[in-house]
Amino acid sequence: MRVLIIGAGASGMMAALTAARSGHEALLFERQSRVGRKLAATGNGRCNITNTGAAVSRYHGEDPDFARGALEALPVADTLGIFRGIGLLTREEYGGRVYPLSNSANSVTDTLRFALEAEGVRLVSGDRVRALRREGSGFALSTESGAHVTGDAAIVACGGMAGEKLGGGKDGYELLRAFGHTRTALYPALAQINTAPEFPRALKGVKADCAMRLMRSRETLAESSGEALFTETGVSGPAAFDLARTASTSGGELTLSLDLLRGLGFGEVLGYLRSRVENAPQLTAGELFIGAVPNRLARMLAKYAGLRQDAPASGLDARALKSLAAAAGGFALPVRGTEGFGTAQVTAGGIKTAEFDPATMQSRLVPGLYACGEVLDIDGDCGGFNLQWAWSSGFLAGRLL
Ligand SMILES: Cc1cc2nc3c(=O)[nH]c(=O)nc-3n(C[C@H](O)[C@H](O)[C@H](O)COP(=O)(O)OP(=O)(O)OC[C@H]3O[C@@H](n4cnc5c(N)ncnc54)[C@H](O)[C@@H]3O)c2cc1C
Repeated sequence: MRVLIIGAGASGMMAALTAARSGHEALLFERQSRVGRKLAATGNGRCNITNTGAAVSRYHGEDPDFARGALEALPVADTLGIFRGIGLLTREEYGGRVYPLSNSANSVTDTLRFALEAEGVRLVSGDRVRALRREGSGFALSTESGAHVTGDAAIVACGGMAGEKLGGGKDGYELLRAFGHTRTALYPALAQINTAPEFPRALKGVKADCAMRLMRSRETLAESSGEALFTETGVSGPAAFDLARTASTSGGELTLSLDLLRGLGFGEVLGYLRSRVENAPQLTAGELFIGAVPNRLARMLAKYAGLRQDAPASGLDARALKSLAAAAGGFALPVRGTEGFGTAQVTAGGIKTAEFDPATMQSRLVPGLYACGEVLDIDGDCGGFNLQWAWSSGFLAGRLL
């Protein structure tokens, strides 16, 4: 069979490799001059290629269970087996995150590129697919440069809106909509959460390990834990990324509450402060948390608690110490939305998965038409889950079952 694969990102490259290995003639179309440009930028240039904890529970969308078929067709161990087979060595780090041993995302892109070449995949890059339509019992696509190519099957692997400068866009949705497919609303996910800037701005560049809650009034909408990075306009880092999906899809007035001493209850934090005052009475209010959190954050906690940073610790009464302890456990920032698709790492929402068969990734509306990756309404948590979805769904689509 001759298969037209549109988009040479993570899922498209895996689909093309699988199709070629299954004995099909694979033609891979990429609108950018290079394949896998986004892939090369993932994981801060290190590419968090997968997560050993990948399971349906780490995925979101109207029907997260849709991801099961692909994750079972190509589980993490088999994914790493494929990569090892094409020469990529990897290493597991904290939280099950897997990276190339080289610590370079280019290793992932290049080993895939070499493998595609070795399997005889025909790559057409620097040309955008403008239209895809039925022709006879197969498909025909036309490109920006005027090329007209036919095939027996087609796989749409154009990705989603996230990372606009790296290839994110609407093309995949539009190509599938031409066949009658529909999509859900689209939101940026795995993005910085923008908040009232006063405290984050003063803490710009500070990283803290914390537990986070996204609250609407007193209701907790979502929770996460891990690293937070304060920026000019809000809170970034993996822990914030994991709440961005809920922040961008939930209405109402939201608050981001950070527990900066996770694992310690209010009583323990208060006990810590009391012992600091007792043992080091010469400290100021702004210095009491030094040793527990980053220094700049320690000073900011005093300000947040309504204390003068240079107030002598020995003069702080029980109420002041309680406010300081409460500030560390509930450093709450009013939410002002999230960053947009330009800097988001993934798109929440996409083409409705009910219109595809989870056992094959084939369209239920158009036989021979497949989709994989982020263009579909599946998004994963931060930590390698999105690339695993791209590998698994691309693999399943490329089998052309
Ligand atoms: C900065 C950043 C960092 C990230 N880091 C990680 C990470 O460490 N771990 C992780 O799991 N996930 C990460 N992600 C998410 C992950 O990269 C994506 O979920 C994944 O790449 C999606 O794969 P895909 O194949 O669906 O789409 P993409 O990888 O986006 O590939 C789609 C390809 O299709 C091409 N295309 C689009 N339209 C057309 C057209 N009309 N004609 C021809 N070609 C077209 C695009 O140019 C692109 O190359 C990150 C994302 C970003 C933006």
